[in-house]
Amino acid sequence: MAQRVAVSDGANKKVSRVRVAVRLRPYMGTQDEKNEGSCVRGLDSKNLEIINWRNATETVKYSFDVFHGEQTTQQEVFLSVKPILPHILTGQNASVFAYGPTGAGKTHTMMGTLNQLGVIPRAVREVFKMVNAKNEDEGWDYSISMSYLEIYNEKVLDLLSPGSQDLPIREDKDKNILIPGLTHTTITSFSDFHKHFVPASLNRTTASTKINQRSSRSHAVLLLKVVRTQHAPPHRQQTGKLYLIDLAGSEDNRRTGNQGIRLKESGAINLSLFTLSKVVDSLNSSTAVRVPYRDSKLTRLLQDSLGGSAHSVMITNIAPEYKFYFDTFGALNFASKSKLIVNKPFICETVAVPVSVLPVKRARDGQEAGRSGT
Ligand code: ADP
Ligand code: MG
Repeated sequence: MAQRVAVSDGANKKVSRVRVAVRLRPYMGTQDEKNEGSCVRGLDSKNLEIINWRNATETVKYSFDVFHGEQTTQQEVFLSVKPILPHILTGQNASVFAYGPTGAGKTHTMMGTLNQLGVIPRAVREVFKMVNAKNEDEGWDYSISMSYLEIYNEKVLDLLSPGSQDLPIREDKDKNILIPGLTHTTITSFSDFHKHFVPASLNRTTASTKINQRSSRSHAVLLLKVVRTQHAPPHRQQTGKLYLIDLAGSEDNRRTGNQGIRLKESGAINLSLFTLSKVVDSLNSSTAVRVPYRDSKLTRLLQDSLGGSAHSVMITNIAPEYKFYFDTFGALNFASKSKLIVNKPFICETVAVPVSVLPVKRARDGQEAGRSGT
């Protein structure tokens, strides 16, 4: 799973595709005052369907690299990320990001809780496990460091150094992206990581009384860097970077009628997320197109760790309740280019017939429906 898939673009250059997983969180009665039930459901390990708002007797079916249904455990989600981790021990870069509307489970997926650890703590634990399992005889020394930052209103803020100002993003002569002035804390164990990460996360969420607004409007970026140095001359050194990102909510803030400062924030969030969607699109398209990394802070930061030779997984989080309907559609359209209309009633289908034997009909013109088609 989640291995890099190399595809050739028009210029015959190898670019790695971003693997896309979708996770549907469990239905929550508290999010469904009208008691309407779910409008989305999984079909199998790659496919899901959602009611078509234009015609409730139809559903729209989407396919992904991986679909994680409501019952999926944190460990199972982690397994779709785990295969990219060994690469950062050999000087390669990787990124994992959680996308989706506020309330759909991004933070649960990435951070989790003490009892249900998310992708971030599991990945850090795994990296330490891999490094500790390395044999001295292989001739390399490993050192691990962490940085933790937030992109808020197109500003880069150091969460390990509260009160710091907007930091610049630079590129060195080897095309590595760096942030001069950003704190890099060396960590020697998982508990060491925990010691720095937990208070910094709290910093982030308690910095403002408008806790949820801020945390749903900023991108939280954890960077884990693994530097390995050869014992013997010429003491070669390799640096691998892993970005683990809890993105800002993807909901369309224009619809919720935000004004003033909130509107400005929405604009900035939309710029970063909009640019991210363009970047992922161009990486995953089979034709050669310019990848617009420089158009936002987030994508500029990820330039050396998303696409190129880097390994990336995007986890799109969605919620099943109707109140998330349009944001779910938006998130699914971001995550997948392919969808098709299926003409069967969503509700009746749960009665008896197995999903796999139900007739599947293509959209009227026999093509996959376009992105703006529904
Ligand atoms: P987001 O970060 O996308 O805004 P959260 O991670 O805060 O969303 O999730 C919203 C709510 O749903 C939280 O109460 C969270 O505990 C719960 N939740 C999300 N995903 C799951 C899941 N897979 N299983 C159980 N509860 C979940
Ligand atoms: Mg969150």
